[in-house]
Amino acid sequence: MEFQNTAQFAAQLDAQDPLNSFREQFLIPKHNGNDAIYLCGNSLGLQPKTTQQYIGDKLNEWHHLAVEGWFQGDSPWLDYHKQLLPALADIVGAKPAEVTVMNSLTINLHLLMVSFYQPKNGRYKILMEGGAFPSDQYAVESQVRFHGFDPADAIIEVFPRNGESTLRTQDILDVIQANANEVALVLFSGINYYTGQFFDLKAIAQAAHEAGAIVGFDLAHAAGNVPLQLHDWEADFACWCSYKYMNSGPGGVSGVFVHERHHQNKELNRFAGWWGYRNDTRFKMAPGFEPEAGAEGWQVSTSPVLLMAAHKASLDVFEKAGGVNALYSKAKTLTGYLEYLISQVNQKIDYELFKIITPTDVCQRGSQLSLICKHNGRAIFDYLVKQGVIGDWREPDVIRLSPVPLYNTFADVYIAASHLADAAKAITA
Ligand SMILES: *Cc1c(COP(=O)(O)O)cnc(C)c1O
Repeated sequence: MEFQNTAQFAAQLDAQDPLNSFREQFLIPKHNGNDAIYLCGNSLGLQPKTTQQYIGDKLNEWHHLAVEGWFQGDSPWLDYHKQLLPALADIVGAKPAEVTVMNSLTINLHLLMVSFYQPKNGRYKILMEGGAFPSDQYAVESQVRFHGFDPADAIIEVFPRNGESTLRTQDILDVIQANANEVALVLFSGINYYTGQFFDLKAIAQAAHEAGAIVGFDLAHAAGNVPLQLHDWEADFACWCSYKYMNSGPGGVSGVFVHERHHQNKELNRFAGWWGYRNDTRFKMAPGFEPEAGAEGWQVSTSPVLLMAAHKASLDVFEKAGGVNALYSKAKTLTGYLEYLISQVNQKIDYELFKIITPTDVCQRGSQLSLICKHNGRAIFDYLVKQGVIGDWREPDVIRLSPVPLYNTFADVYIAASHLADAAKAITA
């Protein structure tokens, strides 16, 4: 598409946008009485207007039914999570039995590594992207230590080549192959939080399996953002949070995926709890853990029903919008427009002040651009905040901007870029 750097063109794109009306279903924070330009959905997605009602319904059931709420009412709490699974399965490309919602993300990463990181016969290494999200690094280091290995030896990180910011798929595949005898687990994020690079998960899964390793994905920045096919790609496991692109509230309940080929495997270690017990006999409270078939067999604790209600409110919005594919189709244009406008800012001052490190290939990114600011980055970021543009800052010099197709407009992107242009002019004046 031929973009134009005018407010009128942005308004025209908004008028043609089939998802345009969805913005009205969200609560947009204000700045000086106007809607803020919220480009931070990669960190905390906005609140659907229906969320209060969904949580309110559960509070009412608690009020009127109290403990009977587990078994009575219109949607008894005991099975409430099951109502979330079809939409969630759709978002990550799984069968409903392969997903469930429980705990929070880092906890789930640990629980899944208990099952799927089982070093044996000299195969004990974990291969991951360099510069992974810190929580994942800490989780992996501590798992490796838990099994008696030294992280410096047992963790292989793949870094971009000198002078490059993102990874080449072929380099990832080559490192996997080169370590084929020692790698137990290949663990990658779906989208790197810092650069916004969307990895070729299908190719990574295939290479990992060819090397004889298990493959798992942390989809914190990918779930609800880009199309995923976890079942067909044959990922062994995955987990994600619901509070970034999935708009389910701070600390919202996390999702997990376990491929169906592992559902009957009794050899896998599990840190078990009663909520993973066979549904039909759980309340016989018998000794000896027997897992429910499917991802639900990894559940540990009593459902956080209020968090699930918030998640359900958001999943229903996703369904109405036509799922991730519809969103991704808008995201490509919306992110592309931001990319174009930033290149215009650089062009006008005849200097690449903002260097976009997110891949230019639309298949390797979602709704996020990460810009290195070559001068006065922090001051530019603070200026944006003062103008009501909310992105986020990552040391030492990166601004992340994430226009989210469900609630951001082309006008949002245009206004954000014009503030960037003003900041750039002020610096070079
Ligand atoms: C956001 C994020 C987390 C956060 O994990 P919590 O347990 O929810 O705090 C972990 N890993 C990745 C890759 C993330 O992007």
